[in-house]
Amino acid sequence: MQKPIQKSGSKYKKRLFFFFFIIVLIFSMLIGGFQYNQERLYRREKLEYALNIYTQQVHQLIQKKGLNEKLNFSEVDTLRALMPDNDIRISVITNKGKVVYDSFVNDIEKLDNHLNRPEVQKSIHSKKGSNIRLSGSTGQSYYYYSKNYYDYFVRTALPINESVMDFLKANTLFFYFLFGLFGVTVVFLIYATEHFGNSIAKLRKFAINAAQNRDIDPNEDFGKTELGEISNQIVKIYQNLSKTTNALSQEKEKLIMHLQIAQEGVAIFDKNKNLILWNSHFIDYINYLAHISSHNYQELFELPELVEITEFIDKNSKELDTNYIPNVDIISTKKTITIGHKVFLFQVVVFLDSKFEISVNDITKVENEKTIKQEMTLNIAHELKTPVTAISGFLETIKDNPGMDENKKAQFIERSCLQINRLSNLIQDISFITKIEEANELFSIEDVNVNELVKEMLTDFELKLLEAKMEIAFNFPSDLTIKGNSELLDSIFRNLIDNSIKYAGEGCKIEIKNYFEDTNYHYFSFTDNGVGIQEEHLPRIFERFYRADNGRSRKMGGTGLGLSIVKNAVAYHKGRIFVKKRKEQGIEFFFSLKKEI
Ligand code: ADP
Repeated sequence: MQKPIQKSGSKYKKRLFFFFFIIVLIFSMLIGGFQYNQERLYRREKLEYALNIYTQQVHQLIQKKGLNEKLNFSEVDTLRALMPDNDIRISVITNKGKVVYDSFVNDIEKLDNHLNRPEVQKSIHSKKGSNIRLSGSTGQSYYYYSKNYYDYFVRTALPINESVMDFLKANTLFFYFLFGLFGVTVVFLIYATEHFGNSIAKLRKFAINAAQNRDIDPNEDFGKTELGEISNQIVKIYQNLSKTTNALSQEKEKLIMHLQIAQEGVAIFDKNKNLILWNSHFIDYINYLAHISSHNYQELFELPELVEITEFIDKNSKELDTNYIPNVDIISTKKTITIGHKVFLFQVVVFLDSKFEISVNDITKVENEKTIKQEMTLNIAHELKTPVTAISGFLETIKDNPGMDENKKAQFIERSCLQINRLSNLIQDISFITKIEEANELFSIEDVNVNELVKEMLTDFELKLLEAKMEIAFNFPSDLTIKGNSELLDSIFRNLIDNSIKYAGEGCKIEIKNYFEDTNYHYFSFTDNGVGIQEEHLPRIFERFYRADNGRSRKMGGTGLGLSIVKNAVAYHKGRIFVKKRKEQGIEFFFSLKKEI
C-alpha cells in the first residue's frame, strides 16, 4: 500500500525558520556579548588612563625627591589637591609591600602589608593592574589602579559612587541597534523561509511522488527563486526520463510479444549463461534436444551437440571482456543440428555487453522438402531421358535410312508419337503436382457436384472401358456437392479409374461408393477386383514416381505420378487416403473429402 504524503510543507517551513532563527539569535548574542565586553573594557581603559596620569605625576614627584630620602608627602597631598578628582585616593607602596603614603589613612604604620592586594599582584606581573573591591583599610569600595615602578608601586583609587558606576556601564545604544537588526533579520527570515520552504516542500512532494511512481503534476509551480528554477529543471529532466523509460518499456513489451508469437525458439542469456528472456518454443525445442532437469538451462552448454556454439560464445565473450571491439556489426554464427528425425538450425548472436541470443528453428520440413525436391529433379530428369532417347533414336534411324520400308517407318513414327504422348503426360503431371504443392492458391474454390463430375468423366472413359471390357458402378446421390476445386476433384477419380483400367486387367469391375457422410466430411471408397498390388509396395504407393510394376506401368504410359496427385488432391480437400489389398481380389482405396474447404 502506498503511504499518503504527509502534509509537511508548513512543518518543514517552521523547522527551517527555527533553525535559522537559532543561528541568527546565537550570532546576535555573540556579537552583543563581545561588543558589551569591548565597551566595558574601553570604559575601564579610559578610567585607568586618567588614573595613570595621576600615578605618573606621583611617580615623577617621587623621582624628583627620591623615595629614600625622607619624602615629604605633604607635596603629594598638594599634588592631589591640584588633581581634578578631589576624592582620589593615592597610595605609595614599597616593593616589599609597606605602605609609605596613603592619602586617606593618617596612621599608615598600622596598615598591613599590601603586596597581596589583587591590583598590586597584577602590577607585579604586568606592570599595571586594577581591581574593584572593598578597601580593607577604609571600608569603602574603590576602583584601584596600581603601577609598578620596580622600587615601589603607586596606586590610585577612585571611590565607587553612582557617577563612577554610570561611567563604567557599557553604552547600551549598540544593543538597540543590534536588536533592531535582529528584528529585521527575523522578518527577512520569515519571508525567505516562506519562499524557500514552499519550493522545498513542493520539491519534496514531487520527489516522493516520483519515487512511488505516482502521477506528477506537470504544471506544478516551484516559484521564481533559484531553487524553484532548479526544481523546474529537475521536473523537466524527470519527465524526459520517464518518457524515455515508457518508450523503452513499450519497446520491450513489443519485443516480448514478438518473442511469444515467433515461430522460432528464442532466448537471451546474460554473460554468465543465465536465462533472462525466452519464449515457449525455445523451451520446447531444448527439451526435445535434451531433457534439461531442474530448469537449469546452463546445462545446455554442456551438450556435445552444442559444443561449437558454446565455444563460439565463450571465445567472443572473453574477447569482449578484454575490451576488444569487433570490426563486424554483428557477432553471430549458425549451426544445423540433426537430432532423431528432426533438423534444427541454431543461430547465436553475441551482443557487445557479452549477453547473447540463441534462436532455434525446426527446419525439418524445409530440409525434407529440399531433399524431396532434389529427388524430384533427379527423377524428372530420369523420366524425361527415356522417352527423349527413344524419340531421337526412332527419328535418327528414319533419317539415316532413307530407303527404309514404309511399314517399318510408319511403325517407328507411331512409336515416336507414343513416346511424345508419354512425354506430354509426364510434363502435364509434373506441372500439375508442382501447382498443387507450390501454388495451390491458384486453384479456385466453387461448389462442385461430384455426381455430375464423375458421370461426365465416365463418358470420357467409355471407349477405354469398352476395350478393357470393364464396368463401373457408382451410387452417388445426385446432389453430392463439395465446395472445392473441380480440377483437383476430377484428378482424384480420373487417376484412380485410369489406374484400374491400366493395371487391374480385362473384365474387371470398378465400384465407387460414397459410403458415409458426417457434418464435415464425405467418405468414399474405390475398389476394383483386378490384380491388385503386392503388400510390400503398398506403403510407398503414393510416393512420386513409385511404380509397383515398373515394366507394366511404363508400357501403359504411366508417369508414376498418378497416385501422388490423388494424395495431394485429397489433402487439398483436407481429407486422408488409405490403400488396402482386397480380401477377395484387387485393391481398395478409402478417402475422405471435406464438404467445404
Ligand atoms: P502410374 O503412372 O505408373 O500409374 P501411379 O502413381 O498412378 O503411377 O500408380 C503407381 C503404381 O501403382 C502403378 O505403377 C501400379 O503399379 C500400381 N497401381 C495403381 N493402381 C493400381 C490398380 N488399380 N491395380 C493394380 N496396380 C495399381
